[in-house]
This record gives sequence, structure tokens and C-alpha cells, in this order.
Amino acid sequence: MTGASRGIGHAIAAAFLAAGDNVTTIDRQGSGNGALALVGDVTDTASINAAFDQAEAAFGPVQVLVANAGATRDGLAMRMSDEDFAAVIDTNLAGAFRCARRAVGSMVRARRGAIVLIGSVVGLGGGAGQANYAASKAGLVGLARALTREVGGRGITVNVIAPGFIETDMTAGLGEKRRSEVLAAVPAGRLGLPDDVAAAAVFLASPGAAYVSGAVLPVDGGLGMGH
Ligand code: NDP
Repeated sequence: MTGASRGIGHAIAAAFLAAGDNVTTIDRQGSGNGALALVGDVTDTASINAAFDQAEAAFGPVQVLVANAGATRDGLAMRMSDEDFAAVIDTNLAGAFRCARRAVGSMVRARRGAIVLIGSVVGLGGGAGQANYAASKAGLVGLARALTREVGGRGITVNVIAPGFIETDMTAGLGEKRRSEVLAAVPAGRLGLPDDVAAAAVFLASPGAAYVSGAVLPVDGGLGMGH
């Protein structure tokens, strides 16, 4: 899985470890909490392929991919630079694609596998100041559905989790006013926890979710009402 050095990814890796899985984590510092913690940058195909090679040498073919690495570079669209737009697409959308492309070959051979892409409520509902981020997360839905059509017949599922506002470094910068607005819009009356997302990832990778594919699973306390 990618992006486990902190936040949601850290919780996801911990949940799979607790379930007894061999977890490899990939991030830019190699500071994830996997049994095997590797350095890799999802914007760099060679580094991702090399990390997968190492993971497979250690644990055998990858059975589950959680593409979680993500970044923001917020700003109003009319002032957003090409670079800020492209960088977020490259990390969040193309990064997930690079990992899925590398993972899916051995899954096809094994005729089983689960790919979980970490999207966002913002990918479905938009977010002012987040044209790049919202587009990248919406793109993950198309990616999951295209892959489902390509490999769904081989026992492989591809799904998106759409978290709402989760307590991590990414949301720590929300001002008090924005935080109150968000809380007022969440029927659950609280921000989510990384463990809330991790539980959904474990479910989507489990045999019990074998017939769930091309789906978007919101984990947002009701914020998006299924959208
Ligand atoms: P954090 O910023 O806390 O963590 C992001 C993780 O991604 C880090 O481990 C970081 O590691 C890794 N990462 C970033 N860029 C790269 C890269 N180029 N290559 C490899 N790893 C990278 O984010 P969160 O835990 O909050 O978010 C995790 C995911 O959940 C993201 O995809 C985010 O968009 C999504 N999400 C978060 C929400 C929230 O409210 N927090 C809501 C909805 C979705 P390092 O920097 O060390 O490489």
C-alpha cells in the first residue's frame, strides 16, 4: 500500500497488519509502518515498479493494493498554475494508476485480488479551491470502473473509498470557522478517524466483499449521503 507514513494510510496498514497480513508500505521516506517499509514515489514509475519487485521478492505476488498516497495544492481555479494542477493529478490519479497497473498482472495470473483506491467526498461533490484535487479524486472512480470491466472476470475487485473529513495532518490546517461549518454538515456530528477508513479498506479487501466492484464506498458520517 502507498502513503502509510502517517494519517489514513498509517491506520490502514495497521489494520491489515492486525489481521495477520504481510503488509508492504511505500512512501517517499520509507517511513511507513509496514512489515516491509519501502521508499517509493508514486509519481515515478521506475521507483514504484522497483518497490513492487522488492515486495514480491519478500512476500510473493501482491494480493491487495491500497492506493492511498495523496496530496493537495489548493487554490482558486482562476489562479491555479498548470504546475499545481498537474502535480496533484500526477500524485493522486496517475500515482494510483501506476500502482494498479503494476499490481494487476500478478492478480490476473492468480485469478484473485483486490484494489482499493482512496478517493474523497470532494471527488463527487466538488470543493471550492480544489479543482485539481476534486478532478484527481473523481478520476479514481473512472479508473476503478474501467479496471473492473477489464479484470472483474478474473476474480479481481476494484473499488473506491470516499472519505469525508478525517482527522489527519491534511485536515489539521482547517481553520476553526471551516471546521465548525464541516461539523454542522456531518450528520454523525464528528470528523472521521483514520480507523474508520481503515475498517472499510479491510472490508473491501476481504472475501466478504468479493461481489463488490466498481463501487464508491463513502466513509463520511453521512456528509455526502451516498454521493
Ligand atoms: P497525509 O497528508 O496525512 O498523508 C499522505 C500520505 O501520502 C503520506 O504517507 C505521504 O508520505 C504519502 N505521499 C504523498 N505523496 C506521495 C508520493 N508522491 N509518493 C508516495 N507517497 C506519497 O494524508 P491523509 O492521511 O489525510 O490522506 C490519505 C489519503 O486519503 C489521501 O489520498 C487523501 O487525499 C485522502 N483523503 C483524506 C481526507 C482527510 O480528511 N484527511 C479526506 C478524503 C480523502 P510521504 O510524504 O512521506 O511520501
